[in-house]
Amino acid sequence: MSIMDKFSMRGKVSVITGGNRGIGRAIALGLAEAGSAVAIAARDEAKSAATLEELHRIGVKAISVPTDVANRNDVEAMLAKVTQELGPVDVLVNNAGIGFHADALTLEDEEWQRLFSINLDAVWKASQIVGRQMAQRGSGSIINIGSISGFIVNRPQWHSPYGISKAAVHHLTRSLAAEWAKSGIRVNAIAPGYVKTEIASEEYEDYRHYWRDEVPMQRYASPDEIAPIALLLASDASSFVTGSVFTVDGGYTLW
Ligand code: NDP
Repeated sequence: MSIMDKFSMRGKVSVITGGNRGIGRAIALGLAEAGSAVAIAARDEAKSAATLEELHRIGVKAISVPTDVANRNDVEAMLAKVTQELGPVDVLVNNAGIGFHADALTLEDEEWQRLFSINLDAVWKASQIVGRQMAQRGSGSIINIGSISGFIVNRPQWHSPYGISKAAVHHLTRSLAAEWAKSGIRVNAIAPGYVKTEIASEEYEDYRHYWRDEVPMQRYASPDEIAPIALLLASDASSFVTGSVFTVDGGYTLW
């Protein structure tokens, strides 16, 4: 096998939660370019339809399955549909996530629970549901999108639930990697720095000093710079990598 063949995703089936925009869309397109059949699992059907069209233009098999990742039944139904239409899942990218500013003294329990149901519980549920199928087949790669917010406390805004959820995603990654290695399942995470997407686009100008100027590379990332790392972790190129949390932050966490 040549070194470039190790990056090939031909014959593989990948699911990307929240794959219709931002980082998830870039990963979906990247894995498709490498040859994978792709399923995107998100709620906004118009956005999913637009991304699906882009995936079809690449020339791979692709489907969109309307899914609320916080809902176990939705995720189970999504897996059944993907398996029926594309085949069993080789790669699961747990990318769907939300973030908002929150003052710890006034945050309502409902908001805490809403964030954790998507950023953490859904990663657990999808990993368990798809992981069962992977374990039966004795192979699979799960990639969780964590964040530098799981390592450091961001400033100047407060959003402790977000950072806490991402720190938990990093440890979930290590825990499942250890437990499932014997089943042939690799579990890794990517911890991006500030990536220009819809999740925080308006804030980027307000916080330019903290979020851009303090990055050693002096810029934001684009989603296209996260996708190749996902390809590395999805493909046989990382066949001995499991339990890693891969930081992609232009050096932000060095200081
Ligand atoms: P976007 O807001 O651009 O996209 C979020 C994605 O998540 C959308 O596709 C959305 O689809 C999906 N999503 C949200 N809630 C649900 C749900 N309940 N069920 C299914 N899908 C859902 O965010 P980014 O692309 O920026 O972020 C992607 C991931 O990367 C997140 O986990 C985020 O925390 C993480 N990240 C982002 C960084 C950044 O600077 N942008 C930095 C570090 C990490 P829909 O609404 O259609 O359901």
